[in-house]
Formats: sequence, structure tokens, C-alpha cells
Amino acid sequence: MRMIFMGPPGAGKGTQAALLAQALGTPHIATGDIFRANVANKTELGQLAQQYMNKGEYVPDEVTNAMVADRLKEADAAEGFILDGYPRTLAQVHELDRMLAEQNHQLDVVIELVADEDEIVQRLLQRAQEQGRADDTEDVIRHRMQVYTEQTAPLTQEYGQRDLLQTVDGLGSVDQVSERVLAATQSR
Ligand code: AMP
Repeated sequence: MRMIFMGPPGAGKGTQAALLAQALGTPHIATGDIFRANVANKTELGQLAQQYMNKGEYVPDEVTNAMVADRLKEADAAEGFILDGYPRTLAQVHELDRMLAEQNHQLDVVIELVADEDEIVQRLLQRAQEQGRADDTEDVIRHRMQVYTEQTAPLTQEYGQRDLLQTVDGLGSVDQVSERVLAATQSR
């Protein structure tokens, strides 16, 4: 399975993508996690990405695309993957198309997790307390939502036209949502 997880910050993408990856035995490739690991290790990439992440802005496409291209070339991703948080811009969609075409591969499904904005902000503020993420302050959260709406939400149209999109209600317990996610992937 080659799949993408989309959804606004706080919709539960990371949790659900990780659970599904475990269930399917497929690598979970989360660009936000890779950036955070680079920040923690103080790499050059991390230092560059951090400036954008702290403000709730997207890291430039060239940087993100190159990082994903490298990751998808690793052996464990040859048979499938779950991309979480990528692509986030139309330019990234086209770049991913190019990477997959190069390997003669295709996407199987795009899962969009949807949830109410107020609920999401509450979840993120709680995560801020639990995990201390630098980009989980209320101002930055609101900005990340706005960036998502402007730059990433339009991607659902693109994947909808390709008949790849499955929209899943992200409201409810982790188990309830993961059942819906599983059903959405099995319908492919
Ligand atoms: P996430 O953990 O998916 O919420 O990502 C955290 C932050 O990492 C985002 O707010 C961006 O600054 C950056 N980031 C993650 N994925 C991407 C991407 N596909 N394109 C650009 N920036 C990204």
C-alpha cells in the first residue's frame, strides 16, 4: 500500500498513521517527525527547518522534497509506505508524482482526517502541555491552521479528481477513528 495521510494540525494524523503502519507492517514516514529529529540532532537541515517550524510556516518545497526523495529510496519503503504530513503543497504533489513515476509506482489511497477547529485547538493545547512542542502555542496553532487551509486543503480536490480520496471523521476515541481509517483503506 502506498498511502497519504492528510488533515489539519491536531486532527490525529500522526496517531492514526502510526497505528495503521503498525497494523500493515509498512513504514510510517512523517515529515514533521523527520524535521524534529533533525532539530534535536542540530543538523544543518534541522537548523534551517526550525526557523519555519517555530513560526508555523512550511519548510521550503525544495528542502522538503529532497528529504522525502531520499527517504523513499530507502529499502524499507520499496513495497509501500504511509506518508504523514507530505505532500502539503501542490508543488509537493507534483514532485511526489515524479518520484513515484520514476519507480513505476502509484498511490493507492489518500486519507483525509477531518475534525472541528475548536476541538482541534483544544487537542493541540493539551499536546503542548504533554509534549512541550515549540509550535503548539495558541497563536502558532491558529497560524498553522490558516496555512493548512490556504495551501494544503486544496490538495483534496486534486486527489478527489484522481478518485483517491477517502474522507474520515476524526472525532471520537482513537479506536473508533482507527476502525474508520481501516475501513477506508480496505474499501480500495
Ligand atoms: P507536523 O508534525 O506534520 O505538524 O509538522 C510540523 C512542521 O514541520 C510543520 O508546521 C512545518 O513547519 C514542517 N513540515 C512538516 N511537513 C512539511 C511539508 N510537507 N512541507 C513543509 N513543511 C513541513
